[in-house]
Parts: sequence; C-alpha cells; structure tokens
Amino acid sequence: MKAGYVNRILTVNLSDNTIKEEPIDPQVAEKYIGGKGYALYVFYHRYLKEYMAKGISPKDIDPLGPENVLAFTTGPITGIAGVPSPGRHHVMALKSPLTGSIASANSGGEFGAYMKFAGYDMIFIEGAAEKPVYLEIVNGHVEIKDASDLWGRNVFDTTRILKSRVKGENVSVACIGPAGENLVLFANIMNDEHRAAGRTGVGAIMGSKKLKAIVVSGNQKPQIANPEGFRELSKNLIERIRKNPVTGGGLPKYGTAVLVNIINQAGMLPYKNWQFGYNPEADKISGETLEKTYLIKRRPCWGCQIGCGRVVKVPFGPYQIMYSEGPEYESIWALGNDTGVMDLAAVIKANHLCDELGLDTITMGSTIATAMELYEKGYIPEEDLQGMDMKFGNAAAVVEAVWRTAYKAGFGAKLALGSKRLAEMYGAPELSMSVKGLEMPAYDPRGSKGIGLNYATANRGGCHVTGYTISPEILGLPQKIDPLTPEGKAQWVKIFQDLTSVVNSAVNCLFTTFEIGAKDYADLFNTIAGFNFTDSDVLKIGERIYNLERYIMSLYGFSAKDDTLPPRLTKEPMPEGPVKGQVVELDKMLAEYYKLRGWVDGVPTKEKLKELGIEL
Ligand code: SF4
Repeated sequence: MKAGYVNRILTVNLSDNTIKEEPIDPQVAEKYIGGKGYALYVFYHRYLKEYMAKGISPKDIDPLGPENVLAFTTGPITGIAGVPSPGRHHVMALKSPLTGSIASANSGGEFGAYMKFAGYDMIFIEGAAEKPVYLEIVNGHVEIKDASDLWGRNVFDTTRILKSRVKGENVSVACIGPAGENLVLFANIMNDEHRAAGRTGVGAIMGSKKLKAIVVSGNQKPQIANPEGFRELSKNLIERIRKNPVTGGGLPKYGTAVLVNIINQAGMLPYKNWQFGYNPEADKISGETLEKTYLIKRRPCWGCQIGCGRVVKVPFGPYQIMYSEGPEYESIWALGNDTGVMDLAAVIKANHLCDELGLDTITMGSTIATAMELYEKGYIPEEDLQGMDMKFGNAAAVVEAVWRTAYKAGFGAKLALGSKRLAEMYGAPELSMSVKGLEMPAYDPRGSKGIGLNYATANRGGCHVTGYTISPEILGLPQKIDPLTPEGKAQWVKIFQDLTSVVNSAVNCLFTTFEIGAKDYADLFNTIAGFNFTDSDVLKIGERIYNLERYIMSLYGFSAKDDTLPPRLTKEPMPEGPVKGQVVELDKMLAEYYKLRGWVDGVPTKEKLKELGIEL
C-alpha cells in the first residue's frame, strides 16, 4: 500500500520478547480497510484458526490468559490532516474479560495519529510478560523496556514520566492505571491522560499481559494518493461539518453533555438505575450548566474540526480539582443521573478519578447504580458494604466507590466485577442494566425503539455507538423519524451498524457521521489511499466486517439467545414522563432485523458469509 497507510504492522510477543513486522496486505485492506475490520481478519485467520487447528476451542480462550491478543489499530484516514476528525484509534482483543465477546473500544486524543507517525498502522500484542514492561516505539524502532518503577502508578504520573523519557517529536502514551493492573473487569486503556479506550475491559487485558504502557513518537507521515482531489474534498467536508447544527453548533459549544437536557426532555435519560426516564433536576448536570460553571477551555483530539473535548476546573469545595477533562455525556449520566447524584462537582471528581485510575465511566456508574438499587431493595446486607452508604443520591459514596473499585478494596472487589456479576451474586440478575454483560449507555429505548434493537444486537453488547439511531430518532439527522414506533427500525439499525464498522476501520471519529455518509467515506478512501470505492462498496465492507465479527462470536457460543434486553425495558412500562407507558417491542423488530441480515438464530449463514466474500 503506497498511500494512506504507513504500511507496517507490528507484532510483539511478550512471552518470548519477539518483535515482527509485516506490510499491510492490499487484498485485506481492500476488503476490511484497517482498524477494527483488519484486526478482525487477523484475529480469525492468524489466531483463531491456529487455535482450532491445535484443538483449542475459541470458547476456552481465557480473556486474561496469554492466549488473548490485544490490538491497537489505525486506518488510512487516521492522522491525515484535513480529514474532519482523524485523531482516533481503535483497540480490539480476541476476547473481553467483561463480556466474553470480542473486546472493542475506540479512543481520541493524539495517540492514534502519533502511533502512525511512529511508523505503524497497527500493533498486535501476543503472550504475557513475566514482569511489568512497556513498549517504546520511536520512528519504527521498537524496544520492550522494564516498567517495574511504573507499576502501581496512576495514569497521569505514568504518562508524564514516560513523556519525559522520550525526547522525540509527537510523543503520546497509552497506559493502564491501578484498575488495569488489578484486573478490574472494566478497566480502560487511557491515552494522553484523559482519553479512554473505555469499554469491554481492554485495560484488564493489558494488565494481564503486564504491559503498563505503550509510548510512541515519530514524524513518518503517510502519503496521499490524490492530493488535489483530497484538498477539494477536505474543504467541502469541513465546510459542511461547520454548518451542521450538531457538529458545528451543539458539540463544539457544549460538548457531548449537550445531550443531557435533550435526552431528558425526550423522557429517556435513565434515572436511578433505569427505574425512571425523566429527572426534573437534570439541568443541574447538563452541558449548559457545565459551560456556565466549571468549563475553562476546550480541547479537541488531534486534527479535529469539531472539537467537542472539555477542560474543567472545580476551584473550591470538597471536590476541588484544578485541571480535568470531560466529563462526557455518558460519564455525567452514569456517575450522576443514573446514581441520582445531581452535584456536578462530585460527578467531575468521580470522572477524574476514573481517568486517573483507568476505569470505564459507563460501567462504573451503572454498576454503582445497580448496587444502590440492590441495597435499597434489601438484596445487599449492610455488613457487605463495610461502611459505605449506597443510597441513591449519595455523592460521597459514588466518589469512594470509584477508588475502592480500582483497588478492589472491601465492597470494591465486588463492584470490580461489573453490574451483571454483581446482580447475579445477590440474586437479582434483572437489576443489571446490561446486554451481553456490557452496561447500556444513557438512552432508555422505551423512548427510542431503534436504539433498543441496536442494544440487543450490537456485537459488543449494550453499546450505543455501534448503531446510533438516536441521530434520526431524536436529533432528526439525516431525517426525523418517529422514535416510538418499532416499524422500519431494523433497516436503520443495520445501516448504522454497517457504517459504524467502516468508521471504526477508517479509523475516524463517529461524530462525523452526523454530517458525512457512505459516499463521503468512499471519496475519502479513494483520494487518500487510492481505492476505487462507491458508497455501496463502503456499506458492503461495513456489512462484511459486522458479519465476520458476529461469526467469530458464534465460535464463542453467542447466538440469538444473547440478543436481548433487560426485562425492565420490555416488560415494565415507563412509569412517568414524556414516554409514560412505553415498553420496547423487541421481538417484532428482531425478526425483521434477522431477515434483513440473513442470519439464522442470530448467526450469519454459510451462504451469507459467502455472499459477503468472507473466507473461512
Ligand atoms: S469530535 Fe470530539 S471526540 Fe471526535 S475527534 Fe473531535 S474532539 Fe475528539
């Protein structure tokens, strides 16, 4: 590959300290692009087939064992100045310790672009080290280094120390904090201090490999296949992004927290572990309130033309912090509205601690909220809490629960398992608001049926970004559709899931899709990397990636039985607010979805795989 990519894939085995390199395979890139898609191809063809040939069932892969493989990936769009939001990267692993499915998480900041400038499109990590190590990658030179002095340190200290050790250009650090070291099942990999590959527990996988950090630095810029064509395209896309009311208005002004009031007004902002969907006090933790109180400046990811990132300061009080980033909408919701905490300073503090210790804010907040409902309903005995008062609305308990979880201290050891295992342990599995073991984010599908179908069928579990139907259902982009009808939602979910698979393989920021679609992505791939795609090619590639992921999941034992929702959403009508009385009519939407997908029992058929050109 001459353009778009830096054309090198790195594979490091931490068990035997071998370091290998290979070029991008043009045929694989044509079918899977890069990022998530390329990693899935490698997972299946290089690792799973080999394991199966040796008689090891994919079901028996231990997510925290050396047989798991972790991948840091970029694609042809990452790190290209002039693409609207090119600073993201995608982290994948064969298996998530939280869900047992494929691990998948996306992050912003600088790391993705700088990893490419350091000379690699992708990094695969095999095996496990005996003692803590970190990887230093500078302009194509790779070293495995001792990290004994870094083990035990938080994310901020680790990042600053490693940055001070590398004197080159464009230095960035991705690392784990104590949560990852302690194998908390929903630990993050943090990069650039406050940016998180924050779902499915990829930080615990890194911890199990005793890999504390990866530091990258370099100046190797990829070529552009058609520089003139790309310049024109870039001008057009950036102009459109700036004119769009979401990417040029709400997101830059208020950050993702602009959604707090919008989703609450729609009656679907989950409150107190999803018992309610409307909170009359929600504005206390909204993006608008954040802007008026603690916001000090904005901080976009590398090269981004949207710039939704926030920098905040809580100048006084019990939750004082002189510098922090975020909190994002999902974090504000999970650590605030879902736990009933309406003190924005406390939410900022809890979010900051999650970043410092390396925890997924969505799963952390949701697990605390589940514990609160379990406690208030009498499932958790007082003595188990060891002095923590887990009542809804207790801000101090939320902040304390975060650090206890990272260090597995007292009741924190149970919180560290996530809401599914916690609720099962106390005999009330229905109180975990998760799908396939992954906690759902901040949109109650009783007010937006398409997102319910997406939660149920998203490959990584309760995930909104796999198929963000909130865009048409609530925001009216690219067109407004009725959020309360289940009719026609299967088609929307499928298209969004397929397009997102492409964006996560590009790798680019999903927020661009508020304005730019499959045709624009085809133009980006063609001008940057010299492909010859049409918009339907792009959607077909997305469908191929989604189906390969689903096929791999079937090898782990996933099927239609796992495409479900917590019973609260399908059986308990919303008790009050704008969508009072609504439930999610999942079965009806699911049948239509499987038909569109060509799946039987939730799994792609052999014919479907063949039709999509997926070779097994
Ligand atoms: S839109 Fe926000 S999250 Fe996306 S790349 Fe830009 S700053 Fe980062």
